This record gives sequence, C-alpha cells and structure tokens, in this order.
Amino acid sequence: MSSIQKYTRDREDSNIGKITIAQDSCIGCGACASVSDSTYELNDDGKSMVADPNATNDETLIASAESCATQAISLFDKQGNQIFPK
Ligand code: SF4
Repeated sequence: MSSIQKYTRDREDSNIGKITIAQDSCIGCGACASVSDSTYELNDDGKSMVADPNATNDETLIASAESCATQAISLFDKQGNQIFPK
C-alpha cells in the first residue's frame, strides 16, 4: 500500500489541485498545522493528514509546505505538475 496520502483540492480561486503527504517522511512535528491548523491535523499514528484541502489560500498552503523540514508535503497544480518542492 502506498504511504503517500493524496488529497484533491478544488477551490476555484486556486491553481493547486492536489496535496500529498509522504507518511514515511513525516516526523509529526506539527509545523504544517502551525501554519494552517484548518488544513492539517495529526492522525492516530502521529503523522500529518489533511483534514480540509480547501481550507486555506494558496499562499498559506505553500507556506505550510515550506515549513516542513523533511519536505513530506508536495503540491501539484490542476494539470498535475508538481509545484512544490520545485
Ligand atoms: S511539517 Fe512535515 S514533518 Fe511536520 S507534521 Fe507536517 S508533514 Fe509532518
């Protein structure tokens, strides 16, 4: 089973269409949730999961991905191209 959790985002004012979290890379530090607590929460394994992929704007979502020291969070545009990490 894949350890990459995938979440579809469908905000009309956003060009980010997918968020993924690599569970093996997540150390459960909570930095992403500190940037956007409406987007992320920690699951029962202490790993980050997306509670609401549409909760915040692109700027904050990118900042949350940038906050991850292990680059566990990847962002993709609506055409499927990876936009973070670059
Ligand atoms: S910032 Fe990265 S390592 Fe920390 S909880 Fe979020 S996804 Fe996991």
